[in-house]
Amino acid sequence: MRQFWIIVFFLTASLPSGCSILQGGKLLAPESFGLTLVAPDIYLEAGADETARDNLREAMDKAEKTIRVTYGSVNSRPIVHACITEECYEAFGGRGSVAKVYGDRILLSPRGLNWHFIAHEWSHIEMRSRLTFSACWHLPQWFDEGIAVAISEAPEHSESHWQFLVAANIPRPTREELHTFKSLRQWLDAVHRYGEDKNIERKANGEPEIRPVYSAAGHELRPWLAKVGSAGLLAFIARLNDGENFESAYR
Ligand SMILES: [Zn+2]
Repeated sequence: MRQFWIIVFFLTASLPSGCSILQGGKLLAPESFGLTLVAPDIYLEAGADETARDNLREAMDKAEKTIRVTYGSVNSRPIVHACITEECYEAFGGRGSVAKVYGDRILLSPRGLNWHFIAHEWSHIEMRSRLTFSACWHLPQWFDEGIAVAISEAPEHSESHWQFLVAANIPRPTREELHTFKSLRQWLDAVHRYGEDKNIERKANGEPEIRPVYSAAGHELRPWLAKVGSAGLLAFIARLNDGENFESAYR
């Protein structure tokens, strides 16, 4: 079983790009790469002060509460790896994103040191922990992301950000197009195509940051989740685990 999870970990780590394998693998030995264990489930980059550690602890508690409210209980227990510098984040294989998940390990950039991004990545881990291998394999990436966006309430992916994109006429996926982002590869291609991986450059140029793909997923899933609630989400997960196809379970 342990070997299975090690394989799953490396497969997951390898999905974003081939070179992420070794870098994500560094999270298996975070203390060898400048991170210090500051709580049973939190590694923090050396040089961070006590306030950063306390804030992270609080953020972790808030994220856990959010997972509990959404999923009814908490099955998973992720380990958080928090970088206070971009160099640390890049060294672990994070680039252009705010946070990442590798197996049950969450990697946070200095821009993602808050409950929103912990809850977002935790939702991916929790979802995976509740699905059979087959159901997990068939779960569309846009749905997994939409749930994570909806429950984590990050201002970066909010309904008001979506309305800003609409008002500014910034290209964004239609609902039909969103539903085609089924695999992680298709999702990441869309994130790239809509320029969502260029926000560090955009910010440096004094331009507003844009997140059309993540916001589209949140825009689609927020009303769905509000309507079905926690009980509906759990029933949906049970139907997927029983072998029902995604489209019919979603409707
Ligand atoms: Zn995500």
